[in-house]
Amino acid sequence: MPTDAERNSTVDVGWNWDHSYVRLPQLFFTKIHPVPVFEPRLVILNQPLAIALGLDPEVLKNAAAIFAGNKIPADSEPIAQAYAGHQFGGFTNLGDGRAVLLGEHLAPGGRRIDIQLKGSGRTPYSRGGDGRATLGPMLREYIISEAMHALGIPTTRSLAVATTGEEIFRTELLPGAVLTRIAASHIRVGTFQYAAAHEDLAALTALADHTLQRHFPELMESETRYFDFFQAVMDRQAALIAKWLHVGFIHGVMNTDNMALSGETIDYGPCAFMNDYDPDTVFSSIDRHGRYAYDKQPQIARWNLARLAEAMLPLLHEDQKTAVDLANEALGSFESRFQAYWLLGMRSKLGLFTAEKEDAALVQELLDWMHASHLDFTNTFRALSDETAIAEPVFIDAGFLTWHSQWAARLTRQPHSPAEAAEKMCAHNPAVIPRNHKVEEALAAAVAGDLSVMQRLLKVLADPYGDTAPQEYTTPPPQGASTYQTFCGT
Ligand code: AMP
Ligand code: MG
Repeated sequence: MPTDAERNSTVDVGWNWDHSYVRLPQLFFTKIHPVPVFEPRLVILNQPLAIALGLDPEVLKNAAAIFAGNKIPADSEPIAQAYAGHQFGGFTNLGDGRAVLLGEHLAPGGRRIDIQLKGSGRTPYSRGGDGRATLGPMLREYIISEAMHALGIPTTRSLAVATTGEEIFRTELLPGAVLTRIAASHIRVGTFQYAAAHEDLAALTALADHTLQRHFPELMESETRYFDFFQAVMDRQAALIAKWLHVGFIHGVMNTDNMALSGETIDYGPCAFMNDYDPDTVFSSIDRHGRYAYDKQPQIARWNLARLAEAMLPLLHEDQKTAVDLANEALGSFESRFQAYWLLGMRSKLGLFTAEKEDAALVQELLDWMHASHLDFTNTFRALSDETAIAEPVFIDAGFLTWHSQWAARLTRQPHSPAEAAEKMCAHNPAVIPRNHKVEEALAAAVAGDLSVMQRLLKVLADPYGDTAPQEYTTPPPQGASTYQTFCGT
C-alpha cells in the first residue's frame, strides 16, 4: 500500500485543467479523492488518444499511479457526481458509486473533456457497492468504445486501464481495475432528474445553463433557449440511436442515467453487436422483458427524453400547462427526426445518394428477407457492394433476387456511377464489428496476462470500413452462439 505521504500526492503529467462543474451548486457533487490501491500497474494506454489530447504518451506510460487513483494530477479537483435515474422504468437516486471525475481537460483547440476514473473506490453514492470494477469489463468497455469511435459513432472513449493489485469479489475473485474514461461531459438525463427531484429551480437553471454553454453554445442567446436546448438534445439522440441501428449495436441498459446530453454513447455494460438480423435481439441477462431490445431503442430514447422534459418543465414555461404543451410538441417530433436519420443512413448503406418515396420500403424488404433467412446483419450489407460475395449460394434465393432487381433499378435512377455507389456503401457498411466471440477471446487472454490478442483485435477494429480485416474477425460465430449473454455484474 502507498505510504501516507504517497497517498493522493500530486504529480504533473501535463493535463490542462479547468473545473467548470465544481462551480455548479454543491448539490451536484461531492469532493472526494479516489481510494488508493495496493499495486497500480498500467495494462493499456491509448497512445493516439493521448496525443490527440495534447498529452505525452511517454510520460503517461509511467503514470500507473495516476490511472489507478493513487496519485492525483497537479491542479485536479476530484469529485463524485450526483445524479438520479430511471433504471428499467423505476426511479432511483444514484450518483457515481465507483467513479471520480478528476476534472475537465482543455485539449488542443479548446475542446473541454471530462477525465474520469471508473472503479476508483467507494463514494457517498456507492449504496451497497464496493466502488470497484474488475479487469474484464473495463477492458471490454475499452474495446467497444474504441470500436464505436472508429465506426464514426459519438462515444465516450478510453484512455487507459490500470490494474489495482487487489482482488474484487463478484461471483468469484477477480482482478480489480480502473478505467480512465474521457467524455464530452458526464451530464446525464438523470442529472436533470436529480435537480428536479430536489425541487431546486436555481440548481436546475444552473445545470441547464452549464450544459447549454458546454454542448450547445450557439443557443445561449436564443430567447427560447431551454426549449431549443431540449430539441437539440432530442435531435442528437435521434441521430445517435439511428447510428446504433445502422451497425447493429444494442446498448443493453438505456436507463436515464446512461443517456448523456452531449449525444455520446455512454456506459458500456451489457452492450453487444447483433450477428443475425433479428429486431428482437437482446443480450443482457437482466433485460428479461426485452425492454432494451435492438428495435426498441428509438422508443426507449423517446421515453427517456420525456423524463428529461418532465425534469425541465419549470424551464420551458412558468405556466405548467403551457410547459407541458411545449414538451409534448417537441417530443412529438422525435419519431420523424429519428426516422429521417435512420433512412439517411440506410440509403447510404444501399449506395443511394438521392431520395425516393419508396426507399424506406426497399430497406424494410431487405431487412425482412435477412430476418427470415437468418443472415448476418453486418456481412449481408457489406456483401451488397461485392460481386463475389453476392454470388454466394445464400443470395441465390427468390426473395433476394426479387429485392435485388428493385434495388438495381433504383440505383439506375440516380445520376451516380456504380463505382460511386459502391464507394458510399463501403464507407457505411463496416466489414468488421467487435464480434462477441472475438471480444470474449481477447478478454480471456488479457485477463490471463496475454494482451496480444486484444491488441490485434483493437488494430482490426480501428479500420472497420477498410478491406484489411483477416477473415477470422469477419466470420460470424458458429451456429448456437446466438444464445450469447452479457452480464451487468461489472
Ligand atoms: P451502471 O449500471 O454501471 O450504469 O451503474 C448504475 C449505478 O450503480 C451507478 O451509479 C454506478 O456508479 C453504481 N455502481 C455500479 N457498480 C458499482 C459498484 N461496484 N460499487 C458502487 N457503485 C456501483
Ligand atoms: Mg451508468
